[in-house]
Amino acid sequence: MLRVAVVGSGPSGVYTAQGLVQQSQVPGVRVDVLDRLPCPYGLVRYGVAPDHEKIKSLQNNLRAVLEDERVRFLGGVRIGPDGLPAARLRELYHAVVYCVGAATDRHLGVPGEELAGSWSATEFVSWYSAHPDSVADGFVLGARSAVVIGVGNVAVDVTRILARGAAELSPTDMPQAALTALAASEVTEISMVGRRGPSQARFTTKELRELGALPDTEVIVDPRELELDPDYNEPSGLPAANRRNVEVLRGWAATPPRGAARRIRLRFFLRPVELLADSGEGDGRRVGAVRFERTVPDGHGGVTGTGRYEDIDAQLVLRSVGYRGVPLDGLPFDAEHGTVPHLAGRVVRDGAVAPGEYVAGWIKRGPTGVIGTNRPCAKETVTSLLEDAAMLVRRELPGDPLVALRAAGLTPVEWAGWQAIERAEAELGASLGRGVVKLPDWTSLLAAARTARS
Ligand code: NAP
Repeated sequence: MLRVAVVGSGPSGVYTAQGLVQQSQVPGVRVDVLDRLPCPYGLVRYGVAPDHEKIKSLQNNLRAVLEDERVRFLGGVRIGPDGLPAARLRELYHAVVYCVGAATDRHLGVPGEELAGSWSATEFVSWYSAHPDSVADGFVLGARSAVVIGVGNVAVDVTRILARGAAELSPTDMPQAALTALAASEVTEISMVGRRGPSQARFTTKELRELGALPDTEVIVDPRELELDPDYNEPSGLPAANRRNVEVLRGWAATPPRGAARRIRLRFFLRPVELLADSGEGDGRRVGAVRFERTVPDGHGGVTGTGRYEDIDAQLVLRSVGYRGVPLDGLPFDAEHGTVPHLAGRVVRDGAVAPGEYVAGWIKRGPTGVIGTNRPCAKETVTSLLEDAAMLVRRELPGDPLVALRAAGLTPVEWAGWQAIERAEAELGASLGRGVVKLPDWTSLLAAARTARS
């Protein structure tokens, strides 16, 4: 039997498990999918926006894999010095595949970034997604205008959630505290700002279009700003996805404002240089505006500064400039890219392949692509692992890893525990007159998981 540990139960982890059991090349594969959280599905549960029900329904496909008799979900297991050391994990399995994603956010590196009211988009997403590590709230409290820095799909997600009303958010699984806060939000101006041009924006057209379909909200685009982009007037040479974005923006730029209750302003060629403290009656430690420098194309896909500046008022700033991988216990790390060096998914240590250690997903290729991108990425890693299988199974293992985990003082949340969490979330929703409502903290998640055993 080939015993594999997959660390991380997000899409890349689950697609890896699926690839390992749904093949005939190596019979008798058993996979434990470990996660530091008691809940599976990674960013599908804690990253996909709650109003994107269709993408969220991907959980059903992932569930089918985790319910396969050859696959075991073990939640609440942290790998590292403060949990199970990676070296011990390697002893318990023939192979370990790290599918841990990109756990932190990139920094802007401009003065004022740490002012109160300035958050990473990840912190905001974690809050409205009920991530149990999210301790912050008060994002929208007292804010009337917001600036979202960056023009990727996460920026679109947080902009859309800020612009949605209570009636649209209530049917989602958003935790009750976030729903209450967003329902009371007075944010009516949201500026989403890109440092480059519209033809270089990273959002996808489907996501972009959704902004134009929000009730009581209008999208405002200044045609003069779009025309700074050499590809704006002649987009035919652009890749199809970028061209479609430009066409959508062109439509909005040609539409006069109609006086909707909320406005989303899509801005381009503005790079953030400083977050300015509120100059009003506050204590000077809260953000009041973002200073941007006007940029122009440099002819090579980048931009250069012009020395002209514009301040945009904001009591809430969400920095949405991408995720970043963090170093893992006992694994080599490419600090420049925030990834683990690998060859077709095999971890490369000191220039040589490390047998039995693999990566898939964002920690392998960086934080890019949509959920489906993880399928071929996981497949490549699984192919490498299966090629190595004959050599890996020669090592004798100490027995069922679950016994060893318990002996190490860990109490994994097994599938029945996760199902108990799901039941508790359905009951919470029913008691609130909503659908499923997520439990937002460790205490309630673990208490719900424990009911599986009683
Ligand atoms: P992203 O697509 O990499 O976008 C990051 C944005 O931040 C870009 O506009 C980038 O501009 C900007 N940026 C980076 N550094 C900056 C700086 N110092 N100052 C100003 N702007 C800066 O990242 P993401 O939005 O976090 O998304 C991550 C991945 O998840 C993407 O592949 C995305 O498609 C995916 N995702 C998909 C969905 C969906 O399918 N619905 C939803 C959410 C996320 P430059 O281009 O100029 O660098």
